[in-house]
Amino acid sequence: MGSVTDECNCPQCNYPHANRVFYYRAGEETIFCPFCGYTYKKTRAGKGYKEQENHGHGAFIVGIPADGGKQILQMGAFTKSPTRANAERWMQAAEKTGATVLILTIVEDDQIVFLRGSKAELNKYCSGDGAPTE
Ligand SMILES: [Zn+2]
Repeated sequence: MGSVTDECNCPQCNYPHANRVFYYRAGEETIFCPFCGYTYKKTRAGKGYKEQENHGHGAFIVGIPADGGKQILQMGAFTKSPTRANAERWMQAAEKTGATVLILTIVEDDQIVFLRGSKAELNKYCSGDGAPTE
């Protein structure tokens, strides 16, 4: 695929373990912050590039059961700021499908708060090379 994954500081919240993937053949780039949910995408468009930046409104890491008792980690972000009640409902719906919500943050009064998990756990998940998924 021709990509390099590394960490960078989140441009929005300064979290030091934001995930950056650089696709060196295409010159495309994505940044995903699993703390605040900030996303950035630079993709080819015609002869140039198109940049798309989304403000973070909260993020999540969900463990999906896989063969051999393993778990596939899937990271994602909310595109709109969910209320606490909406986020709780979202978690319940996700867990009805058999997934485990490991981390979930929302933004309340400009503060990022954990409804599930903690900063220490988030750091643990982000010190590997889990690529962001949508
Ligand atoms: Zn961030």
